[in-house]
Amino acid sequence: MTIGSEKEPIFPAYSIEMTAQQAYERQQVHFRAHPNPSLEHRRRRLKDLRAALLEREEALKDALWGDFSKPAYEVELTEFLTTLIELDHTLRHLPQWMKPQRKPTPFVLIGTRTDVQCLPKGPSLIIAPWNYAVVLTLGPIIHATAAGSPFVVKPSEHTPRAAQLLKELIESVYPPEEGTVFLGGPEVGASLLEQPFSHVHFTGSPAVGRTIMEGAAKHLASVTLELGGKSPTYIDRSADLLDAARGVCFGKFSNGGQTCIAPDYLLVHRDIADAFAAALKGEIERAYVPGTDDADLTAIVSPRHFERQQALLEDAVSAGTEILTGGGSDPRSRRIEATVLIDPPETTRVMQEEIFGPILPFVAVDGVDDALERIDRRPKPLSTYVYTKDDAVVERFSASVRTGAVCKNTTMLQFVQPFGPFGGEGNSGIGRSHGEAGFRAFSNEQVVLRRRWGGWILRLVQPPYGPRTTWIGRLFRKFT
Ligand code: NAD
Repeated sequence: MTIGSEKEPIFPAYSIEMTAQQAYERQQVHFRAHPNPSLEHRRRRLKDLRAALLEREEALKDALWGDFSKPAYEVELTEFLTTLIELDHTLRHLPQWMKPQRKPTPFVLIGTRTDVQCLPKGPSLIIAPWNYAVVLTLGPIIHATAAGSPFVVKPSEHTPRAAQLLKELIESVYPPEEGTVFLGGPEVGASLLEQPFSHVHFTGSPAVGRTIMEGAAKHLASVTLELGGKSPTYIDRSADLLDAARGVCFGKFSNGGQTCIAPDYLLVHRDIADAFAAALKGEIERAYVPGTDDADLTAIVSPRHFERQQALLEDAVSAGTEILTGGGSDPRSRRIEATVLIDPPETTRVMQEEIFGPILPFVAVDGVDDALERIDRRPKPLSTYVYTKDDAVVERFSASVRTGAVCKNTTMLQFVQPFGPFGGEGNSGIGRSHGEAGFRAFSNEQVVLRRRWGGWILRLVQPPYGPRTTWIGRLFRKFT
């Protein structure tokens, strides 16, 4: 039998669509042969990724405009700047992260030396959302590459133009045994999840997050779940109201409110509620042209998502909620005006569900205790914002709220702090990403403990047991 040229290749050619199982196996075979890519290899891929991204800047802006009318400037700021911060930070710090770390030697381990080295976990699955299609797809890819783990990635089906471009971009940098892209919706995600990946990085809703964790559990794969929820914003009596209005307006209404860390609802100290309402309304009118024709207003991603926003609004209004500003919408452009709702009842959908759109409940509260009590009634939030001049107020929030980040007098900036870490708690997520935390999520932290001398010490605690071993054991206890 002839071996070689006449044989079918084990895997289909690069351009042919691969099944989830083939993609996984191809990566696994390659990973076994190359279990620890060099620093140079990882950096080369990251540099190529950077160049490929910049080459497609205009095309990605066009794609995201086509997908959901996202303004080009917002793409620059929230997709390109954020990705480049993460990429450059990783390129700069990767040599340090990859270096084995020497650990101190406790007395009972005298004669040994311990190092911890980060090694790639192996083929990993990345499932991305649509709301920041570029940075939330490429971010985990940067971390997987830094860690040396091959990856299969599935961008979201809701931003198809961006997803197609991302596929081309990623495939121009990675051979399929190092990085493969699958396009499609939940059914594609589900078939990928059946493969025994070592790590699953998921960004999306808490509901789907549960399904992802169940799928990962079948293979005991580790998970990073970057989820969502209702992030509160407290406006204290001492706050600079104009500054607070600006921060809230930017954090809430950029990307059409479709941001995981956007302020979901406001808790405003009753003493300044009227003044802050006026400042917020003024700021919205300064930032956006009234109506739904403003090109700075990102559209809602799909008709289904648009209808959900409409339903949230109708539910609040039918419960007697007053609209401070906004409320208008256009189903053709899928744009919804920046909308603020005054004191919607707790039972309304806007107070129960993550809003994920440009609708902002404004709730007057009696102070810090009242605000903390209301936050505590809900699942743990991804972010918590506090506008105040009083650091003691910030301390109260950071001590009481279990959340991914507490930010004073700003919104959103925690996302671009690459020294991070970034992530949520419980309903808002599991695990951490960004910077070194992202690198570690795709790495196996392996201990290498070397015994260099002192074999006789070990023998002192080994059988036969008797007064000698008991005495030595007790002596060791004194030096723990
Ligand atoms: P989603 O959960 O609907 O979808 C996310 C991804 O999961 C998509 O690629 C989708 O195709 C895939 N998916 C859906 N069902 C699946 C299944 N059964 N098996 C496998 N894959 C499946 O979320 P979305 O609408 O794209 O994004 C919005 C949500 O994401 C919000 O809750 C938001 O707060 C959250 N989010 C969180 C972060 C963060 O960093 N924590 C960032 C952005 C968005």
